[in-house]
Amino acid sequence: MTAAAMLRVEELSRAFGAVYAVRDVSLSVAEGETRAVIGPNGAGKSTLFNLVSGHLTPGHGTVHYAAGDRLRRIDRLSAHARARQGIAIVFQSARLFHGMTALENVMVGAHARTRHGFLSAALRLPRHHREEAAITADALAALDRVGLRDWAHRSADALPLGQQRALQVARALCARPRLLLLDEPASGLRAGEREALARLIEGLRAEGLTMMLIEHDVAFVARLADRVTVLHLGRQIAEGTPEQIRGDDAVLAAYLGQ
Ligand code: ADP
Ligand code: MG
Repeated sequence: MTAAAMLRVEELSRAFGAVYAVRDVSLSVAEGETRAVIGPNGAGKSTLFNLVSGHLTPGHGTVHYAAGDRLRRIDRLSAHARARQGIAIVFQSARLFHGMTALENVMVGAHARTRHGFLSAALRLPRHHREEAAITADALAALDRVGLRDWAHRSADALPLGQQRALQVARALCARPRLLLLDEPASGLRAGEREALARLIEGLRAEGLTMMLIEHDVAFVARLADRVTVLHLGRQIAEGTPEQIRGDDAVLAAYLGQ
């Protein structure tokens, strides 16, 4: 019953100066899996995501991703090339474009997978009109998927924080990802907003989307993740089901013992 791997990271390392942010991390994420990545501040979680998305290059190690019928090495590809292969990231503390509607914010994401990109579309070059109509339809569908269809033509600035996070997810979904990386999407949200976000992530999981999710709250993670990877000081100190992780001494020590 082992599902095919969507992502395989092997002995991945990245240092900043003398400090390893990520050190010798190896993991494999199966197609359709939701993988949580947890660990204290500075553990290397965001760096790991950026190494997968291509916003950082590794010092050592490899990243393979299921493209077409097999795993292909992607760690030398640009972030843009990886986005076009279906890897989408919602950055920690991602920002919306102020003064734009919710729909426009999502369309910025959709242009990541088009040939000409956002700039030429923004300039409204004639040959892009048909492409533009298709992107608008995709963006509306993405808004619908996160429950924000009614907000399409309203200013994104007016959205409460929880719905701003949902909008960031819609923006990422509009690029039609096969692997979605969510870096602390629940941070700063109130209980009701966290619940709404959890339900949104559960819905994506039920649709079979492969996700990686960074989150501090182990209870939140236990509900959403199939497996959990625990990082501490750049190293992977544990991996397992949420139940296994909650009983792991090294994990308890990393969270409580320092
Ligand atoms: P986390 O997301 O788990 O909180 P990060 O991946 O952001 O951790 O950071 C891991 C370590 O790498 C920290 O010590 C952090 O200070 C360092 N770091 C991350 N990004 C940079 C950077 N661009 N320049 C220098 N140091 C960095
Ligand atoms: Mg981080």
